[in-house]
Amino acid sequence: MLEKVEKAFDPEEFIEEFEVLTRDAGRVQNETLKKILEENRRTEYLQKWGLDGKFDPKSFAELVPIVTHKDLEPFIRRIVDGDASPILTGKPIKTISLSSGTTQGKPKFVPFNDDLVESTMQIYKTSFAFRNREYPIGSGKALQFIYSSKQFKTSGGLPAGTATTNVYRSSQYKKTMKAMQTPCCSPDEVIFGPDFHQSLYCHLLCGLISSDDIQVVSSTFAHSLVHAFRTFEQVWEELCNDIRNGVLTSRITVPSIRTAMSKLLKPNPELADMIYEKCSRLSNWYGLIPELFPNAKYIYGIMTGSMEPYLNKLRHYAADLPLLSADYGSSEGWIGANVNPNLPPELATFAVLPNIGYFEFIPLRQNLDNLAVEGSDATFLGLEPKPVGLSEVKVGEEYEILVTNFAGLYRYRLGDVVKVMGFHNSTPELQFVCRRNLLLTINIDKNTERDLQLSVESAAKLLAAEKLEVVDFSSRVDLSTDPGHYVIYWEISGEANDEILRECCNCLDKSFVDAGYMSSRKVNAIGPLELRVLRKGTFHEVLDHFVGMGCAVSQFKTPRCVGANNSRVLQILSNNVVKNYFSTAY
Ligand code: AMP
Repeated sequence: MLEKVEKAFDPEEFIEEFEVLTRDAGRVQNETLKKILEENRRTEYLQKWGLDGKFDPKSFAELVPIVTHKDLEPFIRRIVDGDASPILTGKPIKTISLSSGTTQGKPKFVPFNDDLVESTMQIYKTSFAFRNREYPIGSGKALQFIYSSKQFKTSGGLPAGTATTNVYRSSQYKKTMKAMQTPCCSPDEVIFGPDFHQSLYCHLLCGLISSDDIQVVSSTFAHSLVHAFRTFEQVWEELCNDIRNGVLTSRITVPSIRTAMSKLLKPNPELADMIYEKCSRLSNWYGLIPELFPNAKYIYGIMTGSMEPYLNKLRHYAADLPLLSADYGSSEGWIGANVNPNLPPELATFAVLPNIGYFEFIPLRQNLDNLAVEGSDATFLGLEPKPVGLSEVKVGEEYEILVTNFAGLYRYRLGDVVKVMGFHNSTPELQFVCRRNLLLTINIDKNTERDLQLSVESAAKLLAAEKLEVVDFSSRVDLSTDPGHYVIYWEISGEANDEILRECCNCLDKSFVDAGYMSSRKVNAIGPLELRVLRKGTFHEVLDHFVGMGCAVSQFKTPRCVGANNSRVLQILSNNVVKNYFSTAY
């Protein structure tokens, strides 16, 4: 069913192919599973589970276990170390992706291959075809705030980088963007530059130079869009100067970027004056994006899940320009395309592409889901996960997703919770609900229960010197401030002085070593961490509340992160705050 990107891209033809695929999604799923298992039948992993030529969903579910990344780690490790034997895939894995999973501050390695590039292109083209029906774009360019991560070689000599970097580096990506008439306006040197701030400045400059050609303004996650235009507010006069004189500001120091930009930059006082005049006229930067890029048809990026808090600011910059939410996927692979571009981002859904992987869904009971989000285990109530197939999911129900794909993942817990909102033909349309185990996230940062625990552990050492200890702790993300920030709640065994607690607060902040958090803190895209000290006995009150709801004391786990949906616990915590401190660590 996959179209070769070299072939001329006809959106209507692509929509028709998608319609065919989704009309009998259950059958396509079974065929896809068969294809995956046949291709990889001789792998060590599948042989271990004794599939022995059985390719049907029932045998697959009976014989192959549901796994997390941790279970696959030893297999992936060997690939990373250079073992080219068929471990997880028949064809050797030649590239590794780094997922944002940050347990113990280390990103996870996941296999990456051409099949993932193909499915990425299929998803991009599918959603583009639907978007283009509603919001046709002319031939032009895209202003894309995209940045590559550093690529490095693993111990076994395999190139490794984030999945998006691996995609941007692929030749197929460029061909696809061209086929969709929207090549990126920035040169590769800017996208792959080593300094994020310099790349961002040059993306803005490239966009302004091609301002009349810009058809689409986009980024992977909406946070980068907001961050880019907040930066624009600071540097717009400098950008105008560069354009006026045709000379790049001295703040850009990376030689490859300077060389690439000097080819694009020519003195253009008329353009500089026009931008200057437009910016001076705007009130509080309202409508900045359409003002700068008058031919842009829409703004595009992932605006769902943890990106929703940026919508207000984005709408302010966008004025009447439509915001179109992008597709749903992960480093491990893609899942669904946004084929209803007219829905506002808050209601965006993703139609599962039944030929890019085999998907199973673990039903989550409402209360179990809430507990899971707060850091408890799925087995909290002693329940074994019983996944259902793609055609068995029910509208209105929430599920945790399992992925089996062409890149060596089998019944893999992605860790996301989704809700079925309806069907496109016979394939489900999913709404993203949350990360199942993700506790703290504001934008690109992702911190798990384990990360929080490690951070609290190191800060608690400072208390231990005073013969004090942390009795219990919890956390939340506070988005009522701009930017949002992390709040850590501590109940302490005795009285600690202000100086020590300030140090603890700084230590907590510094101990979140997730790259997304650290970089966001550095640019103040996340505000200073706040430590709130609680009255003694607060966590007893929390326990009492759970017990009152019917939980067994022996199974009680303190909610490590309190979401807005848990208003009672939040209220208990808020009512008991005796002191608070803000970090000065950055
Ligand atoms: P990563 O591991 O860095 O590739 O991040 C992938 C995760 O980002 C997914 O598992 C989701 O939790 C989240 N994500 C990806 N796409 C979307 C989307 N369209 N809406 C909300 N969250 C998303």
